Order: sequence, then C-alpha cells, then structure tokens
Amino acid sequence: DEDNFCFFRTDKEDLGSLFIRQENGNKGTFGKVLLIAGSKNMAGAALLSGEACMRAGAGMLKFYTTNEIRESILSNLPEAMLSVFDTKEPLSEQLEKDMEWADVIGIGPGISTEPYAGQILEYVLKNKGNKPCVIDADALNLLSLHMSLLKSAAPPCIVTPHIGEFSRLTGMSVSELCSDIPKAVREFVQEYGVVCVCKDARTLTILPNGCAYINTSGNSALATAGSGDVLTGIILGILAGSDNHADIRVIPLAVYLHGILGEAASFRRSKAGVIASDLIEELTIQNKKLE
Ligand code: AMP
Ligand code: MG
Repeated sequence: DEDNFCFFRTDKEDLGSLFIRQENGNKGTFGKVLLIAGSKNMAGAALLSGEACMRAGAGMLKFYTTNEIRESILSNLPEAMLSVFDTKEPLSEQLEKDMEWADVIGIGPGISTEPYAGQILEYVLKNKGNKPCVIDADALNLLSLHMSLLKSAAPPCIVTPHIGEFSRLTGMSVSELCSDIPKAVREFVQEYGVVCVCKDARTLTILPNGCAYINTSGNSALATAGSGDVLTGIILGILAGSDNHADIRVIPLAVYLHGILGEAASFRRSKAGVIASDLIEELTIQNKKLE
C-alpha cells in the first residue's frame, strides 16, 4: 500500500559527503573490489567499469576474468590486479581466495551468457556471505534463468537492470512494466530483498526498507554503450570508499552522480558525441569540485 512507499530526491549537496577521504587512510582503508567482468570479445565493458570503480575512489581493484583478455586488461588498466581463468575451468581456488580478499564484489559487465559465466554467478551468490554484491548486465540475463539464486543470496545484493533486463528478471513485458514501473520495482524488491536500480531516463532506485529514489540528473548523452558499465563501477567504487562498505544508502547518490557526469560531459561536447569513457574523465573533474 502507499503508506510505506516514500519517495526521496537527491540534490547536489548530498554528494559532498561521498568524497571526504580520511587523510591518513591507506589503500586498504578505501576498500578492495573484486570485479568479475569481461570475456573474449568484451574487454571494454570490464575496463570501463574497472576504471570508473578506481576513479570513484576504491583503494584496490582486482579483476576475475578470462585468460583471453589478460593482455588487454593489463595494458589498459595497469593499476588493477588480475586473476584469470580458463573458460573450461571457471571455478578455482583463486576465486575463493579473491572473494575472501574483497570487501565489495561486482559481477556482470561483459561476462557473456555462456554457461561458464552462469557457474561463476551461482558460486558467487552462494558464497559471498554478507559482502555487498552488485549484479549487472549479462549476470542479470543469466540470473533471470535462475531467480531462486537471488532469493537465497545473503544481503546486500544490488541489481542494476535497464528496462529490458528488468523485463527478463520479472518475466513481465516491457509495456506491462512501463504501465507502472514503481509498482513493479517495489514488488521485486519486496520479493527478493535486494536493492533494485531500475535504469531509465529517470532511474528509480528502491532499497529493501522501501525508500524509493527517483533520479533527476542526467540526459540523453548517457544513452550510449558502456554507460551502464560506468555506473556499476561508480557504485562499486563508492561502496568501497565508504567507511561501511555495506552502506547501501550511497547507491542513489552514485546514480545521481552518474547523471551529473552525463550533463557535464555534454556541456563540452555534443550529447550525441559523448561516449562512456568521457563519463569517466568527467568523474574526476566533478569529484574535484565536490572534495
Ligand atoms: P546501460 O543500458 O546498462 O548501458 O545503462 C544506461 C545508463 O544510462 C543508465 O544509467 C540509464 O539510466 C542512463 N540513461 C540512458 N538513457 C538516458 C536518458 N535519455 N536520460 C538519462 N539517463 C539515461
Ligand atoms: Mg548495461
């Protein structure tokens, strides 16, 4: 019912608190992120989310990805650490160690929907314990085939579907969803106990406690390939940089910041000309203003 459905709005002032960096902190203080992303023909998605994650403030980033894109990751983001696997043997002792090491886990950008990726997703959701886990992109498409995995996963889980992915997760058609998105998202959050970031021109984020955030920042410059991968990286980096890595209240702020990046990028370039890596460039400039 409408009574426990409260909407919140994010403003620029709310972002200030995100980038207060403890002056005597070390890279461990600012969080360790394990990012399970990328596959043979999709190194870019991993790189975009990985760089956004580091530039959003994460102290350390480690990729878990296929050996086919090892060189590409190493040469394009030397700051990141790397564990690689053979797609014939996706689960390894290394994955177990990396999950133990991480404070925050992300899975999805560019992982493909091959069965090996599904095996990793299942392992992660069953073994992540109470570490926050952001589930995006192909991981959502894999998840839609096994929704019981999400139901039994320990919180906090954060899913970041666009409308097409949300349609697959819910089994509802896009037109059915669009007739009442807040209702569909709210029911989903109630059923699965997750944070749902339903991405659209006006992204709606609902937390398990029922608080709902309609995002007011952003523009059509964000409608470009890789934009969502950058958002996933920002969410991971901000969670990692927070004193409490499981503080899901920062998620609507990350969404708002991502929108600001789209606006800022299209201040200097045409909206049509903005690409996802421009958003990452803006991330450091906009954060500088907020410091
Ligand atoms: P994805 O489809 O996963 O790449 O995610 C696209 C991202 O861009 C999401 O964060 C959307 O909210 C955002 N986005 C896409 N189109 C628009 C738009 N017209 N106005 C504002 N944000 C948008
Ligand atoms: Mg996406």
